[in-house]
Amino acid sequence: MMRHFLSILVLAIFLTGCTSTKPTVNDLATSNPIETSLSLVNITTDKVTVIINPGRFTTETEIYRIPKVVQGTYSVSNFGKYVENFKAFDYKGNEVATTKIDDNSWSISNASQVDKITYEVNDTFDTETTGGIGGENPFSPAGTNIEPTNYLLNLHGFIGYFDSLKNAQYKLDVTAPSSFVRSSALQELQSNVSADGTTTTTTYFAPRYFDITDNPMFYGDLDVEEFNVGDIKIVLSVYSPNKIHTAAALKESMFTMMQAQKNYLGSVNTTPRYDIFLYLSEGKEDSPKGMGALEHHTSTVAVLPENMLLEGLSESMVDVIAHEFFHIVSPLSVHSEDVHYFDYNKPTFSKHLWMYEGVTEYFAQHFQVYEGLTSEDEFYASIMSKIQTSLGMDDTMSFTEMSENVLDKPYASNYYNVYQKGALIGMCIDILMREESNGQRSMLSLMKELSAKYGKNKPFNDDTIIDEITTMTYPSVGEFLQTHVVGTTPINYADFFEKVGLEIADATIETNYIQNNGDLIFEPNRANGTIAFSEAVALNSFWNDNGVLPGDVLKTVNGTALTFENVQQVFTEMYMWSPGAKINVALDRNGEEVIIDKELTQSYTTGQKLVSAANASAKQVALRKAWLKG
Ligand SMILES: [Zn+2]
Repeated sequence: MMRHFLSILVLAIFLTGCTSTKPTVNDLATSNPIETSLSLVNITTDKVTVIINPGRFTTETEIYRIPKVVQGTYSVSNFGKYVENFKAFDYKGNEVATTKIDDNSWSISNASQVDKITYEVNDTFDTETTGGIGGENPFSPAGTNIEPTNYLLNLHGFIGYFDSLKNAQYKLDVTAPSSFVRSSALQELQSNVSADGTTTTTTYFAPRYFDITDNPMFYGDLDVEEFNVGDIKIVLSVYSPNKIHTAAALKESMFTMMQAQKNYLGSVNTTPRYDIFLYLSEGKEDSPKGMGALEHHTSTVAVLPENMLLEGLSESMVDVIAHEFFHIVSPLSVHSEDVHYFDYNKPTFSKHLWMYEGVTEYFAQHFQVYEGLTSEDEFYASIMSKIQTSLGMDDTMSFTEMSENVLDKPYASNYYNVYQKGALIGMCIDILMREESNGQRSMLSLMKELSAKYGKNKPFNDDTIIDEITTMTYPSVGEFLQTHVVGTTPINYADFFEKVGLEIADATIETNYIQNNGDLIFEPNRANGTIAFSEAVALNSFWNDNGVLPGDVLKTVNGTALTFENVQQVFTEMYMWSPGAKINVALDRNGEEVIIDKELTQSYTTGQKLVSAANASAKQVALRKAWLKG
């Protein structure tokens, strides 16, 4: 009530003597695009000035918002926190009162006199502490970067919306030094070079606010390669701060992967152009820390460590980009009303993350073996690793309940399971579908049926989709979903492996350099702020063979001193290490320095793997062949 009172007062003061400025053309906000502009010229303080010109309001008060949550992240970003100096001006250039009403919203009084609003935006990369994983700041691939040689413009970090103009069109002018390379997923209308040639203003168009959030841009010292996969033009834009990696070097593996994805998807409607924006993090304090990617309808933004060998980076790109590209199926073309009518400041969440993230991740693994990019053993290893990791989370938590409450405790900390158990749910339904249909139908054919029935413009009903899927498929699929996805009963994976003639056996298995079978091989000593190898290091062959002992304190990794603050970043890089890379690790063993300066070899540990059952029947083997196209 207080706020309302204030705005009436301010309105009354401003009403006197302003009528002459009312223009005569139809400049109503409701019938014109919102004109916005960003300038990337002469930036000195890592801030970008934004101007928002909405046309003329006829209302008394307007609320302007920057997103609290963006789609695909399932966490709170609060992009409004990065906004400073928020001001509104009337047609004479006088400031109009505004009130910040929460982290992401501003109330503008006397709105009918408002010509434009301006503010400055700080980037999120500079202030990241956790990369958005369980932390305060946005997940890096959803974040923003402002530095002299690179601008990552996830536009939801710069441009907001008026509550009263949720369906408005947007025009966006971006002015940048002409020397910058630019790469954008947003539709470009025109480009004008300044008289002296030093700056270029590019005008983009967005049919609605959704398109602002769905189409990131990259400006600066980029390396860009284009290639065609069937009828899709792929634009790969890479920012490598130390010029270690190039788009050209990554192009081949991206092409092979996306060609295979297109074969796998078959008739699914895709897009004429797909943009991949890759930001390589150099691991400094102000570098982004959330490794991974965020999907959009026709593009994806990925953040990965720069300090990787090309082979390892290519492999990570395949895993990450394959997943993001498969989001074209879901949630981009099959989704519920919560997704379709997404509220960026008061979002509600769908129950079906098992589908959006789980099935997507399953496809990203399955297509690799199905299209012959990886061996059956490699596929089995990735399945077993997902089982192992998922068992470290709450295996009795209802997946639909977790999904619908994903921002809250105790669900938020189980979100990561969508990539583990979620993918395994996809696998189990895939096996059931193939079993019931004698190999004619699959998880993918079901998603195609749903995509034909709904598609990107028609959301499904969140509460009835499981019944609908049951009707479209088989009672066994319905029972599986009710028991293990809605319900809380853990999945007995052995039952599904048996259907395809596989069994779980004890074995020596490949592992990485920070875990055995999903369990970390380090333990922190909070008292003295150190991180040391645990007893488990004895079962990690690379470290064990090089003489590392339990209790050895990790001092530096490739020259970086390890602290509790950067441990996530350093461990992410170590997780992504691949054989062939040279590493230098300094350890402290009871006060004595031990240096491991080696070329990495594959590390092994003990665990379980999937093997062909000796007594598998012809029927079981046939189902396995249908499943893996073996
Ligand atoms: Zn995803």
